[in-house]
Amino acid sequence: MTVLLRHAAHLRTAAIHTRTSSVSLNGWPGIPDETDARMTRGTVPGTHKHVLLRKEVMPLFLNLLSRINKEVLPLNPGPLDSWEYRDARLGGGLSNHASGTAIDFRYDVLEADHQIHMTQAQRRQMERILDSYKTADGHRVFGWGGEWTPGRACDEMHVEIGQDWQVGRPIGVADVRQVTASMHLRADGTVGPGGPVSPPGPHPTTRVHLALLRPGLTNAEVKVMQRALLAHGFNPGPLDGAFGPRTRAAVAALQRSLGFTGYDADGVPGRKSMAALGLTAV
Ligand SMILES: [Zn+2]
Repeated sequence: MTVLLRHAAHLRTAAIHTRTSSVSLNGWPGIPDETDARMTRGTVPGTHKHVLLRKEVMPLFLNLLSRINKEVLPLNPGPLDSWEYRDARLGGGLSNHASGTAIDFRYDVLEADHQIHMTQAQRRQMERILDSYKTADGHRVFGWGGEWTPGRACDEMHVEIGQDWQVGRPIGVADVRQVTASMHLRADGTVGPGGPVSPPGPHPTTRVHLALLRPGLTNAEVKVMQRALLAHGFNPGPLDGAFGPRTRAAVAALQRSLGFTGYDADGVPGRKSMAALGLTAV
């Protein structure tokens, strides 16, 4: 009996472990329970809006949101979402909301229809703001859905801790801590004495090798391409790094959307199709 009970307890622990170990699209672990010790709540400075996020990213998001509130779109009049344990709406796996590393703001006006709703001035200001959060080696910390392909994946309401294909490399806890410290951010998202410092230059795009992006191959660069395809609205199937028929069909669809036909739209990646995904092919 004791043995059976112990076995049952072990199975329960194993099941919980399996869920918490699943990773969201940006590489941060999913957190199924909002009362998890890794989570925290914060109030956006200058608003009465609250967010529920992973502790390490809270100061950066609070600072970002306070700037969006002041410089792009007031946050008090509309919705603001953060942690939610669910899959990504475009597919491909666990949403970055599920790891407490993404927010959605003002979707009452920035509708979830993949279209652009901000003015050019608002979009330029978003870019300027996002450029001010960079790692020491010049990579943006945040990825913004407003930069994803209009009509297919554009998601202006959505900001996340960046994915490698968009910001140039995976952004981890150490990056987040470093940027938070270099900008002199307090836990509540306000700027302490000494900050902010001027940001490094433009962020390089992710480099991929065309020789590794060939149908039939399985490797990490195929996975980077698959994630970028998905975020641009071309579903490559499972994000498993295996360049199979579905991934090839997604590349072909991307190529046709760029105006290529015939052999130029055969699903074998080239420089131009990869550039459209924000990837530099070498
Ligand atoms: Zn979102």
